[in-house]
Amino acid sequence: RRGMVVDDATIPTDLVDQHGRRVSYVRLSVTERCDLACVYCMPPAGERAHARHAELLMPEEIARLARVFSGLGAERLRFTGGEPLCRRDLVSIVERSRESAPRLALAVTTNGTRLGALASPLSRAGLGSVNVSVDSLEPARFAEITRGGELAAVLDGVKAALSAGLEVKTNTVVLGERSLDEIPRIVEWAWSLGIVPRFIEVMPIGEAARLSPCDLVPAARIAERLAALARAEATPTRTGHGPARYLTATDGSSRKVGLIAATTQRFCGDCNRVRVTARGELRPCLARPEGRPLSALLRGGADDDELRDALSAVVRLKSEGHVLGCASGPHQAVGMSLVGG
Ligand code: SAM
Ligand code: SF4
Repeated sequence: RRGMVVDDATIPTDLVDQHGRRVSYVRLSVTERCDLACVYCMPPAGERAHARHAELLMPEEIARLARVFSGLGAERLRFTGGEPLCRRDLVSIVERSRESAPRLALAVTTNGTRLGALASPLSRAGLGSVNVSVDSLEPARFAEITRGGELAAVLDGVKAALSAGLEVKTNTVVLGERSLDEIPRIVEWAWSLGIVPRFIEVMPIGEAARLSPCDLVPAARIAERLAALARAEATPTRTGHGPARYLTATDGSSRKVGLIAATTQRFCGDCNRVRVTARGELRPCLARPEGRPLSALLRGGADDDELRDALSAVVRLKSEGHVLGCASGPHQAVGMSLVGG
């Protein structure tokens, strides 16, 4: 297969797109379901039909994809959703993926409600890190944003993840002035636990397109608040595997806080990822509806070469960038919990 030599090692180039970006990161949704219904992500309970179990990728299919992606040079696989911990066989999915792709770093993005019970089994199965969504540390506001979620369960989940030896980051979607005002408290709380907190600018896709404009805080305002924290530098730097920019504390502690700004500070030029939906469709971009169904290949007897060709063909479809900042466009046809945020 195609490859390029970097530092004496040959890296496959099947996952390099037409704009020269190498895909090293796969986000795979394991379910469309969720036990919460955040106002920017899900309609109220019962208002959306979910995929039938038989439509979802099975653990052995996910493990096979993990192996083939890893063979093509992917380095990280993140399980997301919906709420991945709502999937009863998640531990088995992690275990099988670990066995079939030992070199892939495995991660989960979760709302944390079930982490108290699952952090330890997931860690034993081979998971390395979790990103936990914590939109507020005020129980009433947390319940309002998540439509009924219980903050205490999430905080227990965070502690369980740390005790299980998982690397933990938090994600906070910034919704209006109240979220801006909570930033210092969330940063202090996260830092006190040795966690890197990250703040996310709302993307106006799916349910979020219905939010009031006051809720859509531009990243520049979030960055102002972060920089105003006494111990943070003003200029964020890009590090790590994803779209987050990090500010570093200046007190010598090297503590960090992240900012993810998909809409007003587009980061498509460095995009390194593809997504697999819960129904097994490979999507080259979160904010665009086109993709290729992998389930048909996986279930139709395709061999690994056919699978590799399909994966590299989809990577070549990656567009130069999204148009999230525009009032209308292909992003209106996608939903975060359906594609796998
Ligand atoms: N249920 C898990 C969770 O909440 O972490 C994983 C799936 S969720 C779709 C993944 C991430 O996407 C969460 O951090 C969530 O806050 C974020 N998210 C969802 N909708 C969003 C939107 N419209 N704009 C920005 N972030 C969003
Ligand atoms: Fe569920 Fe996560 Fe979406 Fe909230 S952001 S509704 S927890 S999938």
